[in-house]
Amino acid sequence: MLTAQFQSVGRDLCARGLVSSHSGNLSVRIGERLFITHRNSMLGALEEHDLIETGLNKNDRSTPLASTELDVHRAIYRKTSALAIVHAHPVYAVALSFTERDISPSDVEGKLLLPKVPVLGHGTAVKPGGFAEEIAEALKGNKVVLVRGHGSFAVGQLLEDAYHYTTALEESSRLLYLLKALRVEAH
Ligand SMILES: [Zn+2]
Repeated sequence: MLTAQFQSVGRDLCARGLVSSHSGNLSVRIGERLFITHRNSMLGALEEHDLIETGLNKNDRSTPLASTELDVHRAIYRKTSALAIVHAHPVYAVALSFTERDISPSDVEGKLLLPKVPVLGHGTAVKPGGFAEEIAEALKGNKVVLVRGHGSFAVGQLLEDAYHYTTALEESSRLLYLLKALRVEAH
């Protein structure tokens, strides 16, 4: 059941080009434990052994196998009521992250779902696994945030919710990009 949810979201993220073959990561929290994708796993072809179970607060034998973004996932679960996280690299959203401090969708559905998506990391060197506390803090009041030049972190009660916010962000970002290219006032 859990594996099927990871496989379905991983496959779709990959098919939509929201991650490259070996990037992105997914996790689900169950009590004081979390299940997270294996370090360098292929989200488009996840298998049972690609799901690593480890502690929310405590390290164990499995911890070194977990995604390099484990610290970010842990920080998010500690600070928010999220039960699932999707980290992806949506290209249009990341392109906009270089110039924008936040992304405000201009399409009707995007506006309703994600009124304003904060962009973190301006003026700092960004590396995977970094900004854990800042990302977690920003996700207290947002469904998805972007890290400048890197990617998105979306939260939900189910992986599917977090996946939905990720695709909505990219759809709105693609539209914003096209409106900018056409020099159309977006708002
Ligand atoms: Zn990443």
